[in-house]
Amino acid sequence: MKHLLPEIPVTEIEDLRDILRFHEYRYYVLDSPILADFEYDQFYKALEKLEANNPGLITADSPTQRVASTLTASFPTVAHLVPMLSLENSYNADDLLDWDRRVREGSKEKSVEYSVEPKFDGASISLIYEDDLLVRAATRGDGVQGDDITINIRQIRSVPLSAKFSAYGIQQIEIRGEVLLTKKNFKRFNDKLAEQNLPPLANPRNAASGSLRIKDPAEVRRRNLEAFLYHISYHIDNGEPNSTLLTHSGSLKMLWDLGFRSPEHEKRVFNGIQDVIEYCREFEAGRDDLPYEIDGMVVKVNEVSLQEKLGMTTHHPRWAIAFKFKARQATSRLRAVEFQVGRTGAITPVAKIDPVHIGGVTVGSISLFNEEVIKEKGLRLGDMVLVERAGDVIPYIVKSLPELRNGDEQPIKFPQRCPQCQSQLFKEEGEAVWRCINIDCPAQVVERIIHFVSKDAMDIRNFGEANVRKFYEMGFLTDIPSIYSLPLDRLRGMEGFGEKSITNLTSAIENSKQQPLYRLIFALGIRYVGETTAKTLAQSIDHLMDLSKLSTEELQNMEDVGVKVAASIYQFFRNPSNLQMLGELEKLGLNLQSGKKQSFTGGALAGQTFLFTGTLNRLKRSDAEAMVEEQGGKLLSGVSSKLNYLVVGDDAGSKLEKAKKISQIHIISEEEFLKLIGKD
Ligand code: AMP
Ligand code: ZN
Repeated sequence: MKHLLPEIPVTEIEDLRDILRFHEYRYYVLDSPILADFEYDQFYKALEKLEANNPGLITADSPTQRVASTLTASFPTVAHLVPMLSLENSYNADDLLDWDRRVREGSKEKSVEYSVEPKFDGASISLIYEDDLLVRAATRGDGVQGDDITINIRQIRSVPLSAKFSAYGIQQIEIRGEVLLTKKNFKRFNDKLAEQNLPPLANPRNAASGSLRIKDPAEVRRRNLEAFLYHISYHIDNGEPNSTLLTHSGSLKMLWDLGFRSPEHEKRVFNGIQDVIEYCREFEAGRDDLPYEIDGMVVKVNEVSLQEKLGMTTHHPRWAIAFKFKARQATSRLRAVEFQVGRTGAITPVAKIDPVHIGGVTVGSISLFNEEVIKEKGLRLGDMVLVERAGDVIPYIVKSLPELRNGDEQPIKFPQRCPQCQSQLFKEEGEAVWRCINIDCPAQVVERIIHFVSKDAMDIRNFGEANVRKFYEMGFLTDIPSIYSLPLDRLRGMEGFGEKSITNLTSAIENSKQQPLYRLIFALGIRYVGETTAKTLAQSIDHLMDLSKLSTEELQNMEDVGVKVAASIYQFFRNPSNLQMLGELEKLGLNLQSGKKQSFTGGALAGQTFLFTGTLNRLKRSDAEAMVEEQGGKLLSGVSSKLNYLVVGDDAGSKLEKAKKISQIHIISEEEFLKLIGKD
């Protein structure tokens, strides 16, 4: 990104806020930032500093005031100004034609103007602004009352904390919309859960509504929620009502112009229902290309005066209807449950259903994750079950349909012994997963090897799951190191193993020895160590065996490494057979070196160790670290007695506290660091 803003000495607090708001808007609403994150941070820090020096000038709508560090105990119940209703549903053109006829009769108009927009698949919210300030945000609840979740909504950066409603003559306004997760953020969220062996959330909608009730605002912020605002339910004006608000499309435009993410650009206005139907179909065809999930379209009467004339039932307004897209759901019969043993010994129940087509794929096997899921859903063998597959998300069983039972259904028995090696299964306290803890369990060995050769791990092409199983059965593979001593000549003549494929396999195995260290770390299949953590680990060490020397505290000092992850890594390196395996791999010629630039010994910082904490102002962290290495210094990943210098930036946390307790560590500022390396 280009550095567009010159370095103007901004002294005025309000100017700074406007700059920040503008760039938040570019980033979170328009999705088109023009400022590098680093520079945004500079402005943000400048504002924080000014506000810290002038606490009297802090306003509720300052960009610094979104972040709340305190946990919320509960969400008080609050009443909506106007009840939040549901929508009538329609599924085909006939339904829409029928609705259009009712609208025209009810409004006594020949032809009615309709505004059409996506039906966002998230959790609905209501926001109240008073005198241009966001004063309250609530969930839908039962429609009459909801939960006050203002603190969480403030974490969504596309929701303006203040908006110039006064320019439209509005003193108080209630607006409605939907909070959701983009498909990308949803996937990221589920990947994190998977790394911890937790069942993924079924769809972005559940993820959104769950996120709104989290009691830790910082966690809400990390989820990167989006909010689309699409309706004005109530407003009190100072004088004459503004003409923009006479139509629904006008309201969307006003919201957009005030900095909200409203479906201003997604909506279309049509005269007559035929074009509406066509537009809905067009949109359905492109639904997979959208960055977020929608489950249909919403057709609304555009004139607000007509809306009022049509009124509402107790359930839904008569002036709007949802056009639901084809469901990505189907029913099928649950025939069996298989119990699979994963590479960490986790036993996963997998439902076998009569194959059904959902959203373009055939589904026959569905993971049930763990025993709790089976219990929660009350599943029985022989049940009819409702299966859903949302977007790119893996299919899941929504529920069983007990009303269709005939009495022959059988309870699902979870095994007490490993289906592969018959050893007793164990469940750790607080966990839902049963495990086989027999380290030689054949199922685990095979799964570990499959993981080791897989694309994201060592990427040994032409190996693949089927070959691993075959070679294991033939006794060619016994453990991970045996991959590198595969008796290739004995494969000759076997079905599917021509000269060419043997050559390819040989070179793929050989090449994998030079894979970067993070791939090897990931390939080892240490519990909770996903790709991201593997990269962090690789960057923090010179040689794989360095990990065996780190304490759990030192591990926890690394980015993203929490208590559980640290404990798991620590345990892995305490297991003698793991250490023996790593020794064998090194002998076989695998790369255990991190490949970080070797520090040359003659530099000014030779022999000195460094660690950075907090945010630096003049240097980027990565540049500063590179400078240390250039001058022969060494970077440590955590505070220990081996550390010589802790360089402290703004907002330094626990590392600083810890370093203060160790007398030989020099605690220095960024300025002092620059002096030390001769850059000042
Ligand atoms: P349903 O939950 O299927 O009854 O649908 C009604 C819900 O659709 C409302 O409560 C809103 O939360 C949601 N919705 C999503 N997008 C829109 C939209 N563009 N206009 C109105 N409601 C919407
Ligand atoms: Zn087993």
